[in-house]
Amino acid sequence: MAETTALTDIRLAVRQLCAKFGESYWLALDKDRGYPTEFVQALTESGFLTVLIPEAYGGSGLGVFEASVIMEEVCRSGAHAGACHAQMYVMGSVLRHGNETQKKHYLPKIASGELRLQSFGVTEPTTGTDTTSLKTTAKRDGDDYVINGQKVWISRIEHSDLMVLLARTTPKEETQKKTEGLSAFIVEVGKAVGQGLEIRPIDSMINHHSCELFFDDLRIPKDNLLGKEGQGFKVILDGMNAERILIAAECVGDGRYFIDKASAYASERVVFDRPIGQNQGVQFPIARSYAEVEAAWLMVEKAAHLFDAGEPCAAEANMSKMLASEASWRAGDVCMQTHGGFAFAKEYHIERKFRETRLYQIAPISTNLILSYIGEHVLKMPRSF
Ligand SMILES: Cc1cc2nc3c(=O)[nH]c(=O)nc-3n(C[C@H](O)[C@H](O)[C@H](O)COP(=O)(O)OP(=O)(O)OC[C@H]3O[C@@H](n4cnc5c(N)ncnc54)[C@H](O)[C@@H]3O)c2cc1C
Repeated sequence: MAETTALTDIRLAVRQLCAKFGESYWLALDKDRGYPTEFVQALTESGFLTVLIPEAYGGSGLGVFEASVIMEEVCRSGAHAGACHAQMYVMGSVLRHGNETQKKHYLPKIASGELRLQSFGVTEPTTGTDTTSLKTTAKRDGDDYVINGQKVWISRIEHSDLMVLLARTTPKEETQKKTEGLSAFIVEVGKAVGQGLEIRPIDSMINHHSCELFFDDLRIPKDNLLGKEGQGFKVILDGMNAERILIAAECVGDGRYFIDKASAYASERVVFDRPIGQNQGVQFPIARSYAEVEAAWLMVEKAAHLFDAGEPCAAEANMSKMLASEASWRAGDVCMQTHGGFAFAKEYHIERKFRETRLYQIAPISTNLILSYIGEHVLKMPRSF
């Protein structure tokens, strides 16, 4: 699909910004487990990270499609968007479900970069994908809710001022549907740490700044309830389509990064007196991967346009995420193979991106759960769980 001039302008501007943070910047952060503070700041100041915030609240009020193009460019440049992507989509929970006071208080500050909303707390160690079985509780006590429980893999919380948290306000046994009785809250992280919230970083395969959280009688003002009590699953679910589409766009960016690298290297690396890319055994996997990544982008476009038109898009959002994450992983594998032994040298950057893109077949939702959604909701086959 041909891009509009405005979109091409966004693409080029993001590309220019990313070029200031070369691959050695990301390599150094990966080695030291550092956070890309300067990059996130530049992306926020340029307005790219807050495009989804309406103009009335200080953002530029663009759609998920424009946001997808931004994240795709970020990843294609060699950057690791995982450090900041949540600032785009977690905000949607506040925008769609916050009351006017919450929106006026938080959204302009998120748009200006004064507040970072980079974190969402859903996953728990003992319940995993089975979100409605989560065990963290929020009990009303006077003007507060008191939170107890544990979360795992909560990313960027050490670099975020706010977190959207999902906890149970009514025991599952007392609800008619398992999706009821969960509530979402805005947690002001700075006020919570040491007052009932403990954060422990997880040493992990990629530099994703993920942590374990322990809640011990953390008090949150009742005014920080996001949406209606008991309806928190919907608050979280509503943001998931945007999240899936943006992650899919990132995977397409990763895929294009791998293909750019692989095709360039295959054209210049000479073995047996010929460029390795002259051998079809090297050339065809790269060409196949290109076709897969570009096909995945078409599903990203479709899902994003449906989302922006306010149409149902859960199937397309899920499919875009599955297709793009699988295509980027295969492109990474092809890129590794094309580079031979040099693929393992950190200075070539490929192994870092290879590790980073692997995440997206698991988080924020794993491929099996997407297949199950398609099987049950699109193809109307029997429910499996
Ligand atoms: C780096 C990283 C960052 C993350 N960031 C966040 C974050 O910021 N916030 C947050 O809340 N969470 C975050 N997560 C958690 C992530 O969303 C979960 O890891 C993911 O949803 C899978 O849950 P699980 O790890 O508990 O796997 P499990 O639920 O234990 O599943 C394990 C495997 O079994 C499969 N499986 C499970 N049940 C079924 C079934 N019924 N049918 C078929 N297959 C099944 C799954 O597909 C998966 O492959 C992050 C995870 C990682 C690794």
